[in-house]
This record gives sequence, C-alpha cells and structure tokens, in this order.
Amino acid sequence: MGGETISSPPYDVVIIGGGPAGLTAGMYAARADLRTLTIEGGSTVSQITVTDLIENYPGIPDGIIGSSLVDRLKTQAVQFGLKIATGDVTAVTKKRWGETDGWEIVADDMRYGTLSVIIATGANWRRLGAAGEERFIGKGVSFCATCDGPFYRNREVAVVGGGDTAIQEALYLTRFAKKVTVIHRRDRLRATAILQKRAFANEKIAFAWNSVVESIEGLDLVQGIKLKDVKTGATRELAANGIFIFVGLTPNTAPFRELVAADQGGYITVDANMQTSVPGIFACGDCIAKRLRQVVTACGDGATAAFSAQLYVEELKGEAY
Ligand code: NAP
Repeated sequence: MGGETISSPPYDVVIIGGGPAGLTAGMYAARADLRTLTIEGGSTVSQITVTDLIENYPGIPDGIIGSSLVDRLKTQAVQFGLKIATGDVTAVTKKRWGETDGWEIVADDMRYGTLSVIIATGANWRRLGAAGEERFIGKGVSFCATCDGPFYRNREVAVVGGGDTAIQEALYLTRFAKKVTVIHRRDRLRATAILQKRAFANEKIAFAWNSVVESIEGLDLVQGIKLKDVKTGATRELAANGIFIFVGLTPNTAPFRELVAADQGGYITVDANMQTSVPGIFACGDCIAKRLRQVVTACGDGATAAFSAQLYVEELKGEAY
C-alpha cells in the first residue's frame, strides 16, 4: 500500500470458522453493531454439517439435522448484518492501523484487516494410522456415516471407537447395513449411557472388545479388517465392506500455533471469557481446551467470545461505558 497509513481496519471483528461457534459469535457481534466478518473454511466443513440428527439441542424436541441447524444459524446471523467470506486461513499477523493495534488475516489470496479476531476453527477426525487406512479412503474407509452409510445397504460394516460419535454413527448405520461391528480398544464404552443402551439393544450391532485395527485389507475396495486382541496379542480377520473411523478429534489450530498458547493436544487455552493468551484474540468451540464438546457448548462459547471481543473493541475505540 505504498506507505499509506490507514487509520482503521475494515472490520471490528473477524471470526475464523463457520460452524455453530463461529456463526453464533458472528450473530452476537453483528447484532452488537460491530463490523463483523466470518471466514468459512474453503476446503473444510464443520463436523456438524455431516452429523445426522442432533437430538440434545435445547428447545428442539424433535431434533434437527446438522446441516439444517447450520443453515438456520447462518440465516439468523446474516439478518443481523454478518458478512461471510470463504477461504482457508493460513496466517494471522499483528498490524498497526494508524494509532491502533490490530490484525491482518490471510485467507487464500485475500487479506482482511480487523481490530480483533475470534478463532472458531473446530476440530477434525483423528486417523488410526493403520495400514491401508489412507489407501482405502473413499473405497471403504470413511469418516462420515451420514455421507457414506447409504452405500452399505445390506452389507457388513465396522465402526472403530467407543465414544459418542462412534456409537451414534453405528446406530445410524444400522438403517442400511445388515451388520455393524463396533471395534473398541477396551472392554467398556466411553459413550454416554443412553447411546450405550440403544447400541446394546440393537440386534444388528456386534462388539469386538479389546481390539485394535492392525490393517485394512482388500484389492480395489475394502474386503476385511485384521484385528488384534490387545490382551492376548492374537489376530483375526473380520469381514467388512466398509470401515467407519470415529476415534476422536484433532483441533484445527495449526495456523495459530505460533500465535496463541495451546495445550499438549493443540487445543487453544482460553479463560472463562474465551480470551486467549494474546489480547484481542479470542477462541471458542471445539478448537479450545475444555471438557464438553457439544453444539450447545460451542454456541455458548461463541456468544461469550463475541461479547469479549465487543468489550475489547469498545475499549480500543475509547467507547467503553
Ligand atoms: P472421544 O469421546 O474422544 O472418543 C474417542 C474414542 O475413540 C474413544 O472410545 C477412544 O478409546 C477411541 N480411540 C481414540 N484413539 C484411538 C486409537 N488410536 N485407536 C482406537 N481407538 C481409539 O471422541 P468422539 O466420540 O468423536 O466425541 C468427541 C466429542 O464430541 C465428545 O466430547 C463427545 O461427547 C461429543 N459428541 C457428542 C455427541 C452426543 O452427545 N450425541 C455425539 C457425537 C460427539 P478410549 O475410550 O479407550 O479412550
């Protein structure tokens, strides 16, 4: 910009991430009359958009499909003036705007100037690291039952994991598959009691306890899985046309590693106001270090982050009251 001094960046707050946390933050910030932009991932989608039925979101007794909830959150936020852009954020750097400290965000070939930043990039599915896992992605290995379940009508599939996601998705897969084997590395599920009860009562669901995946086998498509018993070391073959892997999450925080403090798992550490280790940068939703990752907690975090950003921006502008 040829040495030109710009006294104010175009945005008061830029939110990185367009899932429930980011969109709720966007709605609150826009409604508070802040100049607000949400940058949705260009090559990623929020986990919630591939989630089947959400039945524990308060006030929606009939449940709601994940993608519908995101559409509704977006419509509501845009009504209050939220702007939405698309791009993969690769850098957030400090930038001086006249007398004021702010930030510049690089997403693809675009740059966005802002006084404050809210990171709401969520988390993505963790890989097993088993032989054949990468090679058979899209050919029998899947991380999304909603997307790929219908391909397995009357076939046998396996689900790896013992958490809420694995059990919820195993239950969903019984709509299509004739048999669903849940492979879990322990002899006890981590999933919440109601999901466990439903899974144990479902005749189509079998369990391979104390078992880990050694390799995924097949020619062009998955035909079976080699399992190892972690107690005895014995291996065995399990026939399966599909393997759905739900062994937890890794946070989408790589671009911010040098910017803000995070825990050992890469989850961004925040205080109760969603303030990160850096003034002016807030974080919310599944990418932060916390105990419960649910849509309702993501939305709550998003509202808190937006309010904190609002107070920060008002202070910067000398408008605090
Ligand atoms: P999670 O709760 O972290 O569970 C991951 C599961 O994968 C655990 O059972 C774990 O085994 C197993 N695991 C981890 N690494 C493994 C490996 N390398 N090999 C084999 N197994 C491995 O993850 P999640 O189920 O995706 O859930 C993530 C968050 O979303 C949670 O907070 C969950 O409550 C929430 N969620 C809620 C709902 C709902 O309320 N309906 C639905 C979906 C997700 P161990 O048990 O032995 O550790």
